[in-house]
Amino acid sequence: MEIKNMTAIELGKKIKAKEISAVEALEAVYAGYSSSDKEVNAYTSFDLDLSRKSAEEIQKRIDAGEELSVLAGVPIGIKDNICTKDELSTCASKILEGFKPPFDATVIEKIRKAGMTVAGKLNMDEFAMGSTSETSCYGPVRNPWDLNKVPGGSSGGAAASVAALEAICALGSDTGGSIRQPASYCGVSGFKPTYGAVSRYGLIAYASSLDQIGPIAKDVLDCAAIMDIIAGYDKMDSTSLPAGSGVSYLDSMTGDISRKVIGIPEECFGDGVDEDVKAAVENAIKELEKKGAKAKTISLPFIKYAVPTYYIIATAEASSNLSRFDGVKYGFRSENSSSIDNLIINSRSEGFGAEVRKRILLGTFVLSSGYYDAYYNKALKMKQMIVDGFDTAFNECDAICCPTAPMTAPEIGSSLSDSMKMYLSDIFTVSVNLAGLPGLSVPCGFDKSGMPIGAQFIGAIGNDRTILNFGHAFQMVTDYHTKRPGGAK
Ligand code: GLN
Repeated sequence: MEIKNMTAIELGKKIKAKEISAVEALEAVYAGYSSSDKEVNAYTSFDLDLSRKSAEEIQKRIDAGEELSVLAGVPIGIKDNICTKDELSTCASKILEGFKPPFDATVIEKIRKAGMTVAGKLNMDEFAMGSTSETSCYGPVRNPWDLNKVPGGSSGGAAASVAALEAICALGSDTGGSIRQPASYCGVSGFKPTYGAVSRYGLIAYASSLDQIGPIAKDVLDCAAIMDIIAGYDKMDSTSLPAGSGVSYLDSMTGDISRKVIGIPEECFGDGVDEDVKAAVENAIKELEKKGAKAKTISLPFIKYAVPTYYIIATAEASSNLSRFDGVKYGFRSENSSSIDNLIINSRSEGFGAEVRKRILLGTFVLSSGYYDAYYNKALKMKQMIVDGFDTAFNECDAICCPTAPMTAPEIGSSLSDSMKMYLSDIFTVSVNLAGLPGLSVPCGFDKSGMPIGAQFIGAIGNDRTILNFGHAFQMVTDYHTKRPGGAK
């Protein structure tokens, strides 16, 4: 089997057995990037020299017999909003043009310690704001299943690179669905951990109370193996959860879901959801029943309020988080400004794209003194109702299963002109972030035009292993996760 077709675990085994070296693995990934990324545009940059140096060091550690992760030597692509030392980290924004952080994010430190090779930065919606990966200053990412369609967003580069076999696996970030929704549109597996399970230190913030880093990979086992590396308490992140049970994610993947109860929210199978999507997810539930799980209809009555609640809270936090980009401290600075005020205004006006500017305006508005109670405070109350609503639901079931998105990938260019429609595509993902829950998307079928469909599993706080195990159980009896665009093998 060619390196690019291997899962991260398969490649890690070959590297451990010295059949493939860490440098060969990296070069195979780089070759895939060089040959097909002009079309897909999944990467924002790929510093081969830097990556090769780190792969060589890793190989030395492997040769010296150092105890490393099962993924030692495996290259991993990194979304461009995660800081990598001395390597471009731009959030796909002109305002961070040329920015090379002087430090590694905690997840990157952990990745390197485990012996994985950081291999390229991945394209995304500017500052992770979007559902299509079209707002990048590097141009839109294309869906490898159909280059005229979007890959989803905002971690579209991460999902597209894995689907196009240009990356073995990747790290993305998810504020309102940005790991799960592109995973769904690109036919790969994507996991958003419980809020606080993975450190956010070094993740360039969009909405801090919702952001989480997580894996995108060819299957759930790879996601679990990556979680073993990146999860854990970090004193650099005040919202980091205390060390958990210490049980390995990968070892928890038994595939046994017998007698587990899956909640099926009736609100997620109604009007506005594509028939193909409904049918594929319903089929997925039947497969899980064959494996001994019990399906039970439940209600998530708050779903209709999730999108407005999310967009108020996310934009409010974004307006504050993005105030640090002023043309003085990082990246891009406007020329020809006559005063410091002018320099800040011009740098921000020229450096941020339209979607980001719109969200800063909206966030500033909902936080302003006259509207704070009417919007922001109300959204916080609604957020609490969503938390309570999920608590009630989890009294009745072990995991919830629903579509990741109500539809499959739309055409490039069709979404940005109708923002409301684009925001509504987040309807099944955003409430998971508002409640801080773990969520997983796994491929579960194709629509009539051959575009992938994703099924989402949602768990209670801390039940990350449980829902990964649901996804793994599903992948044990189905082969959707092994399908590649254009039948590529
Ligand atoms: N689509 C959502 C937004 O635009 C989610 C983005 C994300 O998860 N980063 O805000």
